[in-house]
Amino acid sequence: ITARGPDGYNDRMSSPVPAVSEALRREVERRRTFAIISHPDAGKTTLTEKTLLYAGAIELAGAVKGRASQRHVVSDWMDIERERGISITSAALEFELHGRRVTLLDTPGHKDFSEDTYRTLLASDSVVMVIDAAKGIETQTRKLFEVARRRHLPMLTFVNKLDLPGRDPLDLLDEIERVLGVSAAPMNWPIGTGDRFKGVYDLRRNEVLFYERVPRSARRAPVVVTGADDPALIEHIGENAHRELLDAVHLLEAAGTRFDLDAYLQARQTPVYFGSALTNFGLESFLDALVQYAPCPQVREGEDGSPIDPLRADFSGFVFKIQANMNPRHRDRVAFVRVCSGVLTKDMQVVNTRLQQNVRLSRPSRFFGRDRETIEEAFPGDVVGLVNPGRFGIGDTLYAGEPVVYPPIPHFPAEHFGALRLQDVRFKQFDDGVRQLEEEGLMQVVFPVHGARYPILGVVGALQFDIIEARMREEYGVACRVEKLSYVAARWVQADGAARLTLPNNVLSTTDRSGRRVLLFPSEWDLQFCERENPNVQFLSMA
Ligand code: GDP
Repeated sequence: ITARGPDGYNDRMSSPVPAVSEALRREVERRRTFAIISHPDAGKTTLTEKTLLYAGAIELAGAVKGRASQRHVVSDWMDIERERGISITSAALEFELHGRRVTLLDTPGHKDFSEDTYRTLLASDSVVMVIDAAKGIETQTRKLFEVARRRHLPMLTFVNKLDLPGRDPLDLLDEIERVLGVSAAPMNWPIGTGDRFKGVYDLRRNEVLFYERVPRSARRAPVVVTGADDPALIEHIGENAHRELLDAVHLLEAAGTRFDLDAYLQARQTPVYFGSALTNFGLESFLDALVQYAPCPQVREGEDGSPIDPLRADFSGFVFKIQANMNPRHRDRVAFVRVCSGVLTKDMQVVNTRLQQNVRLSRPSRFFGRDRETIEEAFPGDVVGLVNPGRFGIGDTLYAGEPVVYPPIPHFPAEHFGALRLQDVRFKQFDDGVRQLEEEGLMQVVFPVHGARYPILGVVGALQFDIIEARMREEYGVACRVEKLSYVAARWVQADGAARLTLPNNVLSTTDRSGRRVLLFPSEWDLQFCERENPNVQFLSMA
């Protein structure tokens, strides 16, 4: 990445072909596609709702009126989510903000769902990291940060819950730098915390934003001051708070990290905003930064390493998510495509590279929670839902014109295994459910080679089993139970011809749906033993 203005395009990226449509360029430059990452409870849902509220995309924070006049949280639309109070599905929310077209990809919040979140981050151009001011960097924040860093995604940080007693802000900045290894540039500075939280000092504009604990408008008009030592400030915040602020600002001026747009775009620096999502405090400047600094869609690498420019005239994109039963009334499966280049238009013919087949995009849709609408066209950065009659898989590239291929989306190796037992006689629904949830990437499915062919599920996090049981019951009307099995790893066997394997007898032989041989190992030791005993065989942790 080389230097470029806040609006995103560097010269190296611009297409040398003058024929690039100005309309396409304009649409690309005004798009911001991002995801929020955080540890559960840090405030991701609240920040999402408030963002939508500020953008005018919903009327009432915490709830929207659906077409059927039900009130529900937009990105939290499954019964099971409400039951458990966690978010397990990721929807793309699109809205206009300050003249920009923003797409917010909702990342599932539980620690078990890293795989789904991982795919979402592949579809994002930048991320927002939410940190609870009392807790600092938590385990899940750290894991997700690592994923974002591997993709070099620029990251803004929102330190949340400043209205509650929290940790020293200097300490928090230090922790971000120390634990995450990225430089942290404070953009504003809190004046007091918890009960004594009075507002924030905007370090770039020399402006003080006051905070009032009024339920509806938790904010007063900003007071512009010439600097932190402006005597007018004492009048507004009192002597003690002023002294503390002065000390902090002088310290930051002498030794703090200064905001550097390029360092942010290169993911070497995260600008940090202090605020409170619940009480709407500090949101505006944060959202301004999001539309102003966050990058528009950039050049992506194809599978062979060649660059794919968003301004390429031909459409291309990839499927990053599949969701069955988005709306129980529709009972369909939706494949979500991230548009990466060109213009997607309704009814266009595209090629699915995996199947080497033409597909007509007859009803591309945009989703907002449970609601959907058919769209005529979509641009790079947009997320489009395609009704999936089994023709799209996670990671599939779709393109028109010149062929391109996006890199495959890897599966994480499963760590927990269980036999799925049907407890009634609804075989057809059972098979459909297992097939569709497998297609979503919720689990891997294999079948024992000997004896009864019941499905064995492999998942990354054990909580997934509960979710699978609940979704089978609620979405397919099937009673079934996961019986935990004591295997710890699955390996796909790659051997020449009819190579004979030396296997301990506690290793279970299974096949996947495509008939490939998969071995389940009860311990790491057994796995290592097999690798040693069968040097000519490859044991792959992914299909
Ligand atoms: P998520 O799990 O990261 O999506 O977190 P939520 O947005 O669901 O928030 C978790 C809890 O923290 C909820 O009870 C919120 O009301 C509360 N919360 C979120 N933001 C703030 C804040 O700025 N101040 C306070 N006091 N509470 C907050």
